[in-house]
Amino acid sequence: MHGRRPSPLPPPRKRLGQHFLTDRRALERIADAVDPQPGETIIEIGPGRGALTDLLVDRAERLVAIEVDTLLVPVLRARYAASPHVRIVEGDVLDLSLPALAEGAWALVGNVPYYITTPIIFQALRSPRPSRMVFLVQREVAERVAAPPGSDAYGALSANVQALARAELVARVPAGAFHPRPKVDSAILRLTPRPDPVVTPEEEAPFSRLVQGAFGQRRKQMRRVVRALYDLGGEGAEALLGACGIEATARPETLGPEAFARLLRAAGALPR
Ligand code: SAM
Repeated sequence: MHGRRPSPLPPPRKRLGQHFLTDRRALERIADAVDPQPGETIIEIGPGRGALTDLLVDRAERLVAIEVDTLLVPVLRARYAASPHVRIVEGDVLDLSLPALAEGAWALVGNVPYYITTPIIFQALRSPRPSRMVFLVQREVAERVAAPPGSDAYGALSANVQALARAELVARVPAGAFHPRPKVDSAILRLTPRPDPVVTPEEEAPFSRLVQGAFGQRRKQMRRVVRALYDLGGEGAEALLGACGIEATARPETLGPEAFARLLRAAGALPR
């Protein structure tokens, strides 16, 4: 541009969710929340221009950063050329096997593009899971994921994630901490996979369908929900709920993932 030195960086591409985090404190909080451990590989999703990567490089024994933007990949490779423990992988995170890239114990981090937040979270929650995941996501999504049963924000997303991981909202990050500024605020979300997931890998898909179906009727009592979901009469519905210790008058929004898992198993044992 006339009168200005050309920037060595390509301009932000909105299509790829490129809102770069420029607030040093927020970046530090993300790196602290990841807390890389000896022997662990840290996988970063969407390093962008390297703001978070710069902090992780000094803390991680091994760092794999996955970037889909073909214009940013050579910039990143040049930036970390002198750091042999850093690998920049070009590609779409959803097409890659993260455990295969990690080759051992791993943790996952990313200021992830909003348009693929939920698929990224569920990709990471598939077994073998990382030890920790820290995502900078839209604030409302972080609040929903971390919401306890009975709260307004608790829903299918909360129950599905909390069946597999402990969820914490670490800190809120205002829109002004990014360039270019996004339309919404963000928050740092940390997920720690449970040593005792409430469902097995085989149960995950039917559990998710049950939870989705129940929250489709979140204001109804469970006796009505179960009647509709399993095509049962009133007595059958009450017996099923009684068998798994759920009050017939409870509403889906008050049930934790353990209760849905009990319901899934009890319903699986119903005569066909
Ligand atoms: N980590 C940087 C920061 O905090 O400033 C960049 C964050 S920006 C919100 C999201 C980054 O993810 C962008 O660099 C974008 O190109 C990249 N990205 C978008 N979709 C992706 C995908 N499917 N796989 C990998 N990276 C992706």
